[in-house]
Amino acid sequence: MIITMRDDSNLDQQRQIVRHIQERGFQTHVLGRGGDTVIGISGRTVTPVLREEFASLPGVAAVTPATRPYMLAQREARPDGTRVRVGEVVIGGAEPVIMAGPCVIEGHDQMLEAAQAVKAAGATMLRGGAFKPRTSPYSFQGLGEEGLKILALARDLTGLPVVTEVMEPDQVDLVAAYSDMLQIGSRNMANFPLLRRAATAGKPILLKRGFSATVEEWLMSAEYLLAGGNDQVVLCERGIRSFDTATRFTLDLNAVPLARQLTHLPVIVDPSHGTGRRELVEPMALAGMAAGAHGLIVEVHPSPDAALCDAQQSIAPEVLERIVARALALADLLAPAPRVTSITALAAD
Ligand code: PEP
Ligand code: MN
Repeated sequence: MIITMRDDSNLDQQRQIVRHIQERGFQTHVLGRGGDTVIGISGRTVTPVLREEFASLPGVAAVTPATRPYMLAQREARPDGTRVRVGEVVIGGAEPVIMAGPCVIEGHDQMLEAAQAVKAAGATMLRGGAFKPRTSPYSFQGLGEEGLKILALARDLTGLPVVTEVMEPDQVDLVAAYSDMLQIGSRNMANFPLLRRAATAGKPILLKRGFSATVEEWLMSAEYLLAGGNDQVVLCERGIRSFDTATRFTLDLNAVPLARQLTHLPVIVDPSHGTGRRELVEPMALAGMAAGAHGLIVEVHPSPDAALCDAQQSIAPEVLERIVARALALADLLAPAPRVTSITALAAD
């Protein structure tokens, strides 16, 4: 069951409601602060009598049954959608957000050159890995804290907020100290101790879909973050395993409109890992936008062929520039048309 607070409710009312519900033997999970606050209730069955009791408490707008196992993430909890703020950037609104940068931070010059190039190409956020989840233990694992320092320098130079991956619960504070958004990678989507710890870092989180995870499992992982008190979560579809080896993964575009129906959280698409092939990145980026994504995360390198990680899917800054222009044009084209209710309104326009 979820309780939606009235727009004009205050923090005191919220606290009283939480206390009241806990006294009845339930656990409470509070999402957000202010007008869009939602309180999830778990632990026992809410009887019709209790439901009426909760609905009559001061400040309550509605008490709604959880239609899905991810009660805080379900669309009904915030029908208008969640907006996630990363510095000045808002994810989940009308403006598409384009995160771009190299797969891995290789060094000072490479990262700074990449950062300036993606900024000039129109990117709104900067990406780059310092702790890399590599399939082989012998592959370059990233520069660790030194990489984070370079990333923070790139942020200062360009003004672009930065997103980078955190792989272990013990790394969360370190990565949070240097970045504006924490990335939970595909391989760690169901690492519940990491999710619990990351939720408390006070940073927005980019949650990538596990490449063998169902949409429901992905949303349950998001629920861990929300139940942990963090409502600033962005979902990222990054491709799933299929039988076909022609591409690295199969970008599951079904998941984009589906997730947008099932949850209020913003959804972005990663056409780089989703395809693993440079020549497919632009068309699949645009397909992702057409499917309703709020933005993209793209691997871009100043010299793509020389990239130390994921060279075959890295694109040049010039290609990013074209993707940004086309993604913005698509977003304009697909923006919900203003609703015209009468001929008079049309004439008045
Ligand atoms: C990445 O974006 O750097 C990455 C490793 O992606 P994924 O977790 O989706 O494989
Ligand atoms: Mn990569």
